[in-house]
Amino acid sequence: MNEHPKKYINDMTRREIASYLTKRGHPPYRAGQICEWIYRKRAKSIEDMANLPQDLRDHLEKYFTVVRLREKLRLISRTDGTTKYLLRLPDRRTVESVYLPHPRGATFCISSQVGCAFECRICATGTMRLKRDLTPGEIVDQIRFLEEQIQSSVVTGKRNPAPGARAFSNVVLMGMGEPFANYDNVIKAIHLMIDEMGIGSRRITVSTCGIPKKIVKFADEPFEVGLAISLNSPFESRRKKLMPVAGKTPIKELMDAARLYFDKKGRMLTFEYVMVDGMNDRLRDAFALADLLRGLPAKLNLIAFNPFPGSRYVPPEESKIRKFQAVLESRGQKATLRKSKGSDILAGCGQLGARPRKRGHK
Ligand code: SF4
Repeated sequence: MNEHPKKYINDMTRREIASYLTKRGHPPYRAGQICEWIYRKRAKSIEDMANLPQDLRDHLEKYFTVVRLREKLRLISRTDGTTKYLLRLPDRRTVESVYLPHPRGATFCISSQVGCAFECRICATGTMRLKRDLTPGEIVDQIRFLEEQIQSSVVTGKRNPAPGARAFSNVVLMGMGEPFANYDNVIKAIHLMIDEMGIGSRRITVSTCGIPKKIVKFADEPFEVGLAISLNSPFESRRKKLMPVAGKTPIKELMDAARLYFDKKGRMLTFEYVMVDGMNDRLRDAFALADLLRGLPAKLNLIAFNPFPGSRYVPPEESKIRKFQAVLESRGQKATLRKSKGSDILAGCGQLGARPRKRGHK
């Protein structure tokens, strides 16, 4: 719920703005001008929208505001340049957004909720309660914020993108929150990313802990967004230990929904497997995982658990992860070892927001 007394104008699509304006006697093309101000010129307020007539600006000012997230904390990894932001929302709550550079572009990892209700044990956000859903404008403005940071070279001081070039190649909804638990706002945010920010749908990925009914619904949306599913165990009982809420769903139901998504979209699926020592890193897990994924067009990412304060889990030794990977590959399942980026700055999901208050990371 938006606690701000005025509505965010950037929660609305161009069509919604046009409909609002025409009902009040303004020409619909003003909606295009407003979107130009929000997304291209990055206006911070309605008053900034200089080519709108003053009476329209006065009216909009009365009922709307432009939501812009502000930096509360910034941490830059010395090892890989990953930069993590804690961003302040208008109601003073905070969310995390992460810039992940890599040689051929960069990924923006953004949040969809403040906190999360899913309580996954492998994720620091899971230790926080759900505070609230982000609005579409709040989701999308994380991209504007990160892009501005990079274009102004605040992030790493490295070479900036050429003027006018995109500062990122991919956007993943993999930060705080379960995107499908905030379904309608996430869908609207994706439309805004595609229609107003010009981000190709194939450059967007939604990462979910796996809610089959929502995956099925998502397959009917009119865009081809990538889907990443946190699997973390091929066994119901272990998955439930690691993911007490999402793990209640039978794995078969989840796999059926994943297949349906592939069948409708033709996009390779991604499965994420966070490896925890003694929990899901046994060789029998690898055999069962290979069996589970057999015949499914899917990438599998193995990620060593990234410890966070308060967690009793530890990652397996690298040699154990390699053996696990070798078993998968011997069974025909390709698996990529993904490095935990920015581990020196608590860059795992929710680790900044959930950090103990007195640690003083800045
Ligand atoms: S992994 Fe995702 S769904 Fe699970 S607690 Fe963390 S943010 Fe929530």
